[in-house]
Amino acid sequence: MAVKGFDKTPAKSSYDVVIVGGAIMGASTAWFLSDNPDFDGSVLVVERDPTYEKCSTAHTNSCMRQQFSIDLNVRISQFAAEFVNNIREYMGGDDRVPELAIRSFGYMYLADSEKFADVLRESIKVQHAAGAATKLMTPEEIKREYPFYNVDDIVLGSINIVDEGYWDGSTVFDWWRRVSRERGVEYVANEVVAMTRNDAGTRVTSVTLASGEVISCGTVVNASGPRADRTARMAGISVPVEPRKRFSWIFAAEQPLDRDLPLTIDPSGVHVRENGGGTYQCGGHGDLDPAVEFDDFAMDHSIWENHIWPIIATRIPQFEAIKVQSEWAGHYSMNVFDHNAIIGPHDEVENFVFLNGFSGHGLQQSPAMGRGTAEWLTYGEYRSLDLTPFNYERIARNDPIIEKAVI
Ligand SMILES: Cc1cc2nc3c(=O)[nH]c(=O)nc-3n(C[C@H](O)[C@H](O)[C@H](O)COP(=O)(O)OP(=O)(O)OC[C@H]3O[C@@H](n4cnc5c(N)ncnc54)[C@H](O)[C@@H]3O)c2cc1C
Repeated sequence: MAVKGFDKTPAKSSYDVVIVGGAIMGASTAWFLSDNPDFDGSVLVVERDPTYEKCSTAHTNSCMRQQFSIDLNVRISQFAAEFVNNIREYMGGDDRVPELAIRSFGYMYLADSEKFADVLRESIKVQHAAGAATKLMTPEEIKREYPFYNVDDIVLGSINIVDEGYWDGSTVFDWWRRVSRERGVEYVANEVVAMTRNDAGTRVTSVTLASGEVISCGTVVNASGPRADRTARMAGISVPVEPRKRFSWIFAAEQPLDRDLPLTIDPSGVHVRENGGGTYQCGGHGDLDPAVEFDDFAMDHSIWENHIWPIIATRIPQFEAIKVQSEWAGHYSMNVFDHNAIIGPHDEVENFVFLNGFSGHGLQQSPAMGRGTAEWLTYGEYRSLDLTPFNYERIARNDPIIEKAVI
């Protein structure tokens, strides 16, 4: 990870846009701003940890799916696929940028009740209307195509093997940072610790850095992941986002499966997917799911033995003989209001822009969210994909948008 070149002190005392947090969302926004010929402002990205060791982006599963229940979420992920599949073209034909491909093993949602099967049946209509290639599968069909599953309790499955699976998020992240910095976006290794508002309380006029500098700003973008609410509170406002712990394991199977394992969402919520070379990546969380401290990344080793492994070994009996190779805990920035993105300006502090609450789907949303935020900063409106349904105002109105396909 390129720490080199991250100065602590900004070159100037004033910027048109100050982005708080330089992981995938901050980097995407900065790159899309730098790529927009109609934007000629200055951009400062403040990142408290340029090793990115603890951020959500570093702990991701790095997968994308089109199986959402809301049309806008489907379209947001479709743009992710479009961007990843054509990254070099999007990055101006720069031949240093590698070509990327999505490893489309698909997500296999398994329903063990008619109630959840009905959710899959309803969601597929939305996905098909948006052009996704999802198909429903009976247990017999699942068993024919993926003989390794135990489908005894399964009523219905749903899978899409077009533009759905693993992608190389860290390469996209690296190139967004690299190219935007080449174009003049400034990244500093520092922390925003306070904000000052104007007398009317309608605008943030400056941010204060941990090193003491006070930087004037035209707009502030909150791309601080699990710390979203902490950052919002600096501007005297709040956002319903909490750090929630998610555990991941990589394991090798004694007898690897004879074909790619889709990212399988067991009815219990535990998920497991192909990781290549006879290894698999698995994720889940404990029965209790409290908000945690920002620096709490302790593993709970009992969860694997008592909860996760029994579930996956029941679902895929070949996984009775496996060896865990690595494990880690990461944080979702959980939007506890409705699990969807919160994007765009605050309703009263008008130059405070949210880019928050992505829970378990922020990596795939980063191209559309960065593009949308850059459009909003440049034109005062979204131009490619209307993201206004995910605005902050819905929280004030108590008008949640329920996404049923949350992992
Ligand atoms: C286990 C796990 C699996 C996941 N799997 C997937 C997946 O398969 N697909 C998918 O699409 N998404 C997935 N996600 C979600 C995705 O990783 C996140 O939604 C996404 O990375 C969020 O990016 P972000 O930039 O908003 O936040 P982060 O990556 O957390 O970055 C926020 C940054 O802000 C910085 N910061 C915070 N406060 C300040 C401050 N005051 N001053 C300066 N800097 C600050 C932090 O240091 C950090 O670098 C997963 C997440 C986890 C934890």
